[in-house]
Amino acid sequence: MNNKKKSLNLFSNVRGQLTENAPIGIESWFGCGGSADLLFEPADFDDLINLLSQYPEDEPLTIIGGMANTIVRDGGVRGCVIRLGKPFSNIEIEGDTIIAGAGALSGSVAQAAAKAGLGGLEFLSGIPGCIGGAVCMNAGAYGSEVKDVLVQATAVDRAGTVRTMAPSDLNMSYRHTDLPEGYIITRAVFRGRMEDKDIVRTRLKDIKTKRQDTQPISEKTGGSTFANPPGHKAWELIDRAGCRGLTVGGAQMSEKHCNFMINMGGATAADLENLGEEVRRRVREKTGIELKWEIKRIGDPA
Ligand SMILES: Cc1cc2nc3c(=O)[nH]c(=O)nc-3n(C[C@H](O)[C@H](O)[C@H](O)COP(=O)(O)OP(=O)(O)OC[C@H]3O[C@@H](n4cnc5c(N)ncnc54)[C@H](O)[C@@H]3O)c2cc1C
Repeated sequence: MNNKKKSLNLFSNVRGQLTENAPIGIESWFGCGGSADLLFEPADFDDLINLLSQYPEDEPLTIIGGMANTIVRDGGVRGCVIRLGKPFSNIEIEGDTIIAGAGALSGSVAQAAAKAGLGGLEFLSGIPGCIGGAVCMNAGAYGSEVKDVLVQATAVDRAGTVRTMAPSDLNMSYRHTDLPEGYIITRAVFRGRMEDKDIVRTRLKDIKTKRQDTQPISEKTGGSTFANPPGHKAWELIDRAGCRGLTVGGAQMSEKHCNFMINMGGATAADLENLGEEVRRRVREKTGIELKWEIKRIGDPA
């Protein structure tokens, strides 16, 4: 914010954590990038509403989850960044229904469902990040996506008004949700199907093995860099354009899965973004197809 001291005083009645110049970039899965002018981690739902109701309309507001799909640009993020952490990580099971806070890890939701003998959410087990991010991205894998299991999402808008939305309100499609600007998802309700616990657990194990074999999961990465264009696989286009292993500064298109970008060590967010743009240029030149970023980029360049 323009006047940080003033901003902290302005929000002095909040109970959650307010941090100025919070180094969120290094906490992202890529492990690089700038800081948030102000990071707010609410103590609970009422605390979130309280801050939103005071937050100036003309100040930028950004919501992050686990940052498994996000590049934080090197110049950092202006205004307030909101992260829903532990106070929003509760997971409850009622019959075939799973109710998860937006801060719950997607993997934990898959595990909780498996423990209760609920199938259908196994795909979430290998998707890093939190439920808020998974709903916002309509995350998916191995033929399933959030849209298939979501019953309802609760969000608050910038004015602090609570909104309850069905999947049809969100117009969910491949890696896309029409979540209105400024809405913060706080909770999601999913429906699983009753199944034998061992069968569900076996599926979880299979997914783990598949991921270990095909993805650079121990690297600093953000998952798929580009969405698959209709009728194509992004990785095939990238491979065809000769970009497997392509490097810019400390950033590289993974040799193991060439739609995954990795920070090999000292990459800056600019290295990652420039590499992505170079890949888009080469794919366009070779195939005439325009790749679209799946990874979100937030903040300003250095
Ligand atoms: C190794 C690896 C493998 C991956 N594999 C897959 C995969 O198989 N399938 C897949 O779909 N993705 C995959 N991803 C990408 C990523 O895990 C998913 O997109 C994930 O759902 C992002 O969740 P997040 O909490 O990290 O979101 P973030 O990266 O923090 O944010 C992503 C978007 O969601 C928004 N958002 C986050 N929380 C909220 C909220 N509470 N309310 C409103 N908006 C919110 C953010 O504003 C941003 O626009 C992978 C990533 C990695 C690193």
